[in-house]
Amino acid sequence: MPHKTPITVAYGDGIGPEIMQATLAILDAAGAQIEPEVIEIGERVYLSGNSAGIEASAWESLRRTKVFLKAPITTPSGGGYKSLNVTVRKTLGLYANVRPCVSYAPFVETLHPKIDLVIVRENEEDLYAGIEHRQTDDVYQCLKLISRPGCEKIVRYAFEYARRHGRKKVTCMTKDNIMKMSDGLFHKVFDDMAVDYPEIKTEHMIIDIGTARMADRPEQFDVVVTPNLYGDIISDVAAELTGSVGLAGSANIGEHVAMFEAIHGSAPDITGKGIANPSGLLHGAVMMLQHIGQHDVAAKIHNAWLCAIEDGAHTADIAKAGDPSILSTAQFADAVMQRLGQSPTKFKAIDALAPTDAASSTTSKKTYQSPPKSAKAMVGVDVFFHWNDSNANALATKVLAALAEQPFSLQMITNRGVKVWPNGFPETFCTDHWRCRFMATDATSGNHEAIIGLLSAIRATGLDFIKMENLYTFNGEPGFALGQGQ
Ligand code: NAD
Repeated sequence: MPHKTPITVAYGDGIGPEIMQATLAILDAAGAQIEPEVIEIGERVYLSGNSAGIEASAWESLRRTKVFLKAPITTPSGGGYKSLNVTVRKTLGLYANVRPCVSYAPFVETLHPKIDLVIVRENEEDLYAGIEHRQTDDVYQCLKLISRPGCEKIVRYAFEYARRHGRKKVTCMTKDNIMKMSDGLFHKVFDDMAVDYPEIKTEHMIIDIGTARMADRPEQFDVVVTPNLYGDIISDVAAELTGSVGLAGSANIGEHVAMFEAIHGSAPDITGKGIANPSGLLHGAVMMLQHIGQHDVAAKIHNAWLCAIEDGAHTADIAKAGDPSILSTAQFADAVMQRLGQSPTKFKAIDALAPTDAASSTTSKKTYQSPPKSAKAMVGVDVFFHWNDSNANALATKVLAALAEQPFSLQMITNRGVKVWPNGFPETFCTDHWRCRFMATDATSGNHEAIIGLLSAIRATGLDFIKMENLYTFNGEPGFALGQGQ
């Protein structure tokens, strides 16, 4: 009896149970050596009062099996419910979201018959850190966090993925013309790491034009690596271009645990009708089988699925107008099972071999090394104020009066990042959220005690400071951005 790999399975909400049943039936018929351990997550758990949507016993199963096949779940609307997907990804360190998007023309209608690309999306940081605050009547803040180890892990993963799967090009997409420090770091790590992969072509695109190009000429892309939010958006764009959101699967890979799923949601509009396309979850399951080393079973299922598609087996979402034989979820699963062992004739058959590790080895084993400690010096502080008067000069007068005895100078005032003092423009629209940049006037006054003294002096004027951000240099390089217009 071959060894069976325990996996954690969640049937999810909406169409989840229908497509999971179909998927597991195909895996079973194909001889997948897995031992499913079922957990409950999602709507019922949320509504029982658990705002995270997952119980302790489910975490135990995930940490034990380290492999998770998950159907989509419904996040109840209204406040207070945290996204289970984000919680699972971040808690288990699933840093890479890998989403292959492929066209199956002419059997699935699409304007772009030659798409064959993979989005590798950073999955743990960026604006998804979920650190948000309301600071004034007018202004809300969401912190975008980008770390060097986070960038290195995802960029390395993308290059290694390209190498192992024989891909030729990796495109990095960021917005570093605007976010020069955070997105700039992602871009720099990409450029630095590219030298380890001389056989792979590399390019960088600003995310806006990159997304436009993807919508217009997706066949030009091979592997794309990008921070979390951009990846979230372009992976839906790419999947939609292939013909249906019901087709694509995705892998969420961590150092210890991996999760596999369909990219779509729980589709409440078609729940219970038995018409959902199980292909997205099945593709997720195929990636799971590759992950646990069952490459032959993965290829057998994928090839049977390609045969079914070329033979015209279609669920409603991918059927052409007037298609006489639209299959239900269960009938489609049967069509796949009947073709197990066959190879497609129109599509290229999938190879049963593991992706090649030949070229990897040394680069894949490179792990993050913290850079040598920089000489870090505090040179000032940005202090943010809730101030209801729209006159920057009045704020400057008040602040300057408080500065009299303090070892700081007021360098500028900005409103939503735009410099409004000195020499602001009357046309600039101002909210109630202001930032004053104070620079230490001598080398000894850049310290926490001096800043506390500054804040006390400011507070004595009655000003409402809502946040501060220390200004540092690292080896003499400023660790802060200029004001717009500075
Ligand atoms: P959705 O992906 O569920 O549905 C969008 C459209 O695509 C619907 O018309 C639906 O009928 C169709 N569709 C989706 N999957 C299909 C399939 N397999 N076969 C045929 N048609 C399919 O997106 P939504 O309606 O915005 O979200 C519904 C719920 O799903 C929400 O509660 C959302 O939070 C949740 N959701 C969960 C996940 C996840 O668990 N990974 C992902 C996205 C959305």
